[in-house]
Amino acid sequence: FKSSSEDLKGYAPICLGLEDFYTRRLYLRIQDCFCRPIASAPDAWFDVVERYSEDSNKTLHRTSKTSKCLNLGSYNYLGFAAADEYCTPRVIESLKKYSPSTCSIRVDGGTTDLHTELEELVARFVGKPAAVTFGMGYATNSSIIPALIGKGGLIISDSLNHNSIVNGARGSGAAIRVFQHNNVAHLEKVLREQIAEGQPRTHRPWKKIIIIVEGIYSMEGELCPLAEVIAVCKKYKAYIYLDEAHSIGAVGKSGKGVCELLGVDPADVDIMMGTFTKSFGSCGGYIAASKEVVQYLKDTCPAHVYATSMSPPAVQQVISSLKVILGEDGSSRGSQKLAQIRENSNFFRCELKKMGFEVLGDNDSPIMPIMLYNPAKIPAFSRECLKQNVAVVMVAFPASPLLLARTRICISAAHSREDLLKGLEVISKVGDLVGIKYFPTEPPKH
Ligand code: PMP
Repeated sequence: FKSSSEDLKGYAPICLGLEDFYTRRLYLRIQDCFCRPIASAPDAWFDVVERYSEDSNKTLHRTSKTSKCLNLGSYNYLGFAAADEYCTPRVIESLKKYSPSTCSIRVDGGTTDLHTELEELVARFVGKPAAVTFGMGYATNSSIIPALIGKGGLIISDSLNHNSIVNGARGSGAAIRVFQHNNVAHLEKVLREQIAEGQPRTHRPWKKIIIIVEGIYSMEGELCPLAEVIAVCKKYKAYIYLDEAHSIGAVGKSGKGVCELLGVDPADVDIMMGTFTKSFGSCGGYIAASKEVVQYLKDTCPAHVYATSMSPPAVQQVISSLKVILGEDGSSRGSQKLAQIRENSNFFRCELKKMGFEVLGDNDSPIMPIMLYNPAKIPAFSRECLKQNVAVVMVAFPASPLLLARTRICISAAHSREDLLKGLEVISKVGDLVGIKYFPTEPPKH
């Protein structure tokens, strides 16, 4: 391997998707060459964050350098992950009333009136009959999927689904097939290999088939072609499971996620999963579905039956931020935030493209990966941004294929135009320095 990005770019397809043992060994060798120097570049990364600032988490502080950085990497899409005039006093009250933890599982004293209020609110917000919450988003996927399907079932999963989905699918004991990312024709091909079109559920080799997709893919910033996926699910009588970790609260006119954005009826999605760690500035996860499915999960899912329930102040934070989003706090701040994140995201994406960067993802998505390709450029990019007090998240193997390294910008409604312009200026300079403006002459695509 030569060190220039152009040379490395050509090798990427060779390494992707080849599963055999020798390829994997080669892959690890390459990882060794690149990731060791990357790991040993301490000045290039965030170390311990000393505090998130009071200005709606637009900034954060590093301890070793104690520099204050513009935060372009947080999932704080609506700016709720910091002191908020409506949420914070209520969260403090809930802390006094309930303490940080219920110290109990849901079925044995761990269900507060806040938990039931949140579940009703989530169900209403996403447009499903019922919802159930869990202490962790990751565990929601990894424990709910095995509760829904097991041996004799078939999971068909998008190739870029999150690790929590992959682990949930593997742990379920169901057969797993993977379809090419966002490729609905390939999804149908995979389904057709398993069952005949229109075959009744009772006459086919699988007890149950679940297709799992995400609303917005976290490493790509791309939306799921949800309407098309649903059409295929209906045709083959498969169930659909939608992970809205990055889309709920962040997209759609009133924040109701990809269904609202893409004009899909939530009734057509069997299982809606989401997390509270992004748009709502809290922690935990939820499943929204029919009353029967939710009751079944409450009765059987280990994450409900054996795990301590969501922390009450975290629950209160979600209730309060949801009320702001819904306008039930008596202000129009929710709709302003939603309009702002859309405007900020589309502005930033468009400007990056004009500069000649290769930017992944769709309009309206607050996630915008900028391709570096060459993993050796990762520490340089991050270090130079940090030197100019801009904090970005770098994505490297194994979170992305080795030779498709990228920096992933996450835009927030809390960013001001001034913040965005500063971010753009720094990224542009660093992009020149590191040599990642791959389309310097291409006209911008809007
Ligand atoms: N699903 C997706 C698509 C995610 O990106 C993540 C984490 N970012 C999770 C689930 C896990 O959620 P949490 O971080 O809230 O545990």
